[in-house]
Amino acid sequence: MNNADKIYSLAVSGVQKLIPYTPGKPIEELERELGLSHIIKLASNENPLGPGKKALAAIQETLKDLALYPDGNGFNLKQALAKKYAVDMSQITLGNGSNEILELVARAFLTPEFEVVFSQHAFAVYPLVTQAIGAKAVVAPALNYGHDLDAMLQRVTDKTRLVFIANPNNPTGTLLAHADVEAFIAALPDTCICVLDEAYCEFVGDGSADTSIAWLNLYPNLLITRTFSKAYGLAGLRVGYGLSSPQLADILNRVRQPFNNNMLALAAAEAALTDTEHLQNTIAVNAQGMQFITEGFKKLGLEWIPSAGNFVLVNMKQPAIPIYEALLRKGVIVRPVGVYELPNHLRVTIGTEAENQQFLQALAKVTNV
Ligand SMILES: *Cc1c(COP(=O)(O)O)cnc(C)c1O
Repeated sequence: MNNADKIYSLAVSGVQKLIPYTPGKPIEELERELGLSHIIKLASNENPLGPGKKALAAIQETLKDLALYPDGNGFNLKQALAKKYAVDMSQITLGNGSNEILELVARAFLTPEFEVVFSQHAFAVYPLVTQAIGAKAVVAPALNYGHDLDAMLQRVTDKTRLVFIANPNNPTGTLLAHADVEAFIAALPDTCICVLDEAYCEFVGDGSADTSIAWLNLYPNLLITRTFSKAYGLAGLRVGYGLSSPQLADILNRVRQPFNNNMLALAAAEAALTDTEHLQNTIAVNAQGMQFITEGFKKLGLEWIPSAGNFVLVNMKQPAIPIYEALLRKGVIVRPVGVYELPNHLRVTIGTEAENQQFLQALAKVTNV
């Protein structure tokens, strides 16, 4: 075979057409491209305070053991999570980021015969994992940028094997009421798995982190996914988890890699769960920063979508890419969201006070206000 492009035609059809996820631009990449220093990245909803002291100490302590394989069952972390949420360890699936849990559920439950329902403007990974399997994505139109649960339910048929809900949603930051989410789950056929992606639940602050847990006893088809990447400040280590019925967790655990969480990640995540001070600090800095940034938008005459997460979508009322690029030249990395059908918006992660200031100053300059 001398035509290397022929390889493309051999891939399964879902993968042939797949456009991979575009991550936020790394700081080092922008440094290389523009020779800038003092770059700030407010593009991937990472914790601007970094990891907590307890997580760092646990990593340090674990370094000496790196020649060994990690605990493939993640016993200590699962035990800590089980205690925190008062669930059984058999209800937990650990993932290399919660992203891996989203992959596992697609792999374990989908074939090209099935349909997957999610909302317009929902997290980009849902269409990706659906398409990689060759299953059919059924997209419900959004309501005020958020999920329209009625519109989603209307699209559920006996072919629907999976629905994805992000609450709060990324990139819109929109939040659904608990009662509405539960009514939605209760109305689903028992042949349909409901993935409730709560990557940002720690920021919501209405007891959100506990409410949905109680539903696990009622709905064996419910999978809640959470992560250490956002509020816990450990995005670089890749650790997330699923909470579900033991049966659903058993299935997910069959398809995961034997050592999908590395040893440093397991140790750091377990320690991070005990660091309530760092979590509280993170939540407080986010709340203050959200207020500061949205006040800044107001002064610039810009509209934004009220957000329950650690990021906010601002409406530039014109194509956002040129503004994104102008901000890059000022050393500020934010996130364009054209792939989410929001070509005029930019998503900004709430940073430290100094970062938020630098961002607003740069934004004022590039918008000439
Ligand atoms: C960031 C994010 C995730 C995944 O994060 P991981 O780092 O893979 O845990 C999942 N869902 C949403 C909505 C997110 O924004």
